[in-house]
Amino acid sequence: MRNKALSLTLVLAFLLSLCSCGIRKQVPSASKEIFAMDTYMTITCYGENCEDAVNASVEEINRLDNLLSIGKETSEISKLNESGSAVLSDDSITMIKEAIDVYQKTNGAFDITVYPLMVAWGFTTQDFTVPEESTIQELLSYMGCDKLQLNEEKKTLVLGKHQGIDLGGIAKGYASDQLIEIFKKYDLAAGLISLGGNVQTYKTNTDGSRWRCGITNPADPEGTDYLGILNLEDQAAVTSGAYQRNFTDEKTGKTYHHIIDPATGYSADSGLTSVTIICPKGIVADALSTSFYVMGLEKATEYWHTYGAEDHFEFVVQTEDGTVYATSGIADQFEVNDKFNLKVVN
Ligand code: AMP
Ligand code: MG
Repeated sequence: MRNKALSLTLVLAFLLSLCSCGIRKQVPSASKEIFAMDTYMTITCYGENCEDAVNASVEEINRLDNLLSIGKETSEISKLNESGSAVLSDDSITMIKEAIDVYQKTNGAFDITVYPLMVAWGFTTQDFTVPEESTIQELLSYMGCDKLQLNEEKKTLVLGKHQGIDLGGIAKGYASDQLIEIFKKYDLAAGLISLGGNVQTYKTNTDGSRWRCGITNPADPEGTDYLGILNLEDQAAVTSGAYQRNFTDEKTGKTYHHIIDPATGYSADSGLTSVTIICPKGIVADALSTSFYVMGLEKATEYWHTYGAEDHFEFVVQTEDGTVYATSGIADQFEVNDKFNLKVVN
């Protein structure tokens, strides 16, 4: 698993080198790589206060990891899952509110109450197993954000019977939004955040050109091949794909991955191999990349028609036959790899 994450980071490092080729030498820069939130991250800042901004960013990532990680018994989310109710931080409340909103708008495709299923499949411990069908059905019956009781004023959340939450589908997007606030505070000239499959850009390169960020080719996740290059400015680009976290069942040879379809309790199988959402807000991009991976192209397109303008997002997806689809609002900022057929979604 970590090897995969490492190679993904290498891809990103390669892409970062593409991203930074236009940087002028006179602007000071600082960069740090850390492992947090179960992934390798790189934070790069440009400007007079770049060292302080990078250090504050690393501190913020560690703070959020300690707050949200379901792998840490002391995190507030672990304690909530253990006790069934809790008073939560503003960070968790913001994410849960957004998660409930997306749950409603996606008709339940995005559902943070997936936690017991993540445990049953072994994704929380990496002790992978295919659960019994009866277990899956039972755990599915407990799911649903409609059973969560959120009191925004009191900052409390009460879970439904046998429920637990997992913010893994939204936390990195929230974290990169937080880092953008830090970049603003330190008055940076430019900045680039890469948190696993999440990229978020601050302003442009210091020479005024847009950040060039590649989308991993899901057929070659260990290598440096890409579906295409996004030219970004003040935007997040968040990618979800089965290749990011998975295991193969030795008995059947079938591979299962970490994005669960709440309609079945099994890994999502919607005909997509990669979903990237481009949006000024990382939290929206993150929640929707996971959602669309569950929903498939047709429902994703419907969702874009309904909410794309209001929520300011675009998407680039690849279907199993290799075709790449980009919505019309991002097509100008996207250069497809020549070996793939590109269709623009209107
Ligand atoms: P991402 O990599 O952003 O697509 O998020 C995948 C992570 O989100 C998984 O590792 C789980 O922690 C969580 N997750 C899995 N399935 C869902 C789902 N249907 N809705 C919300 N979160 C999910
Ligand atoms: Mg996500």
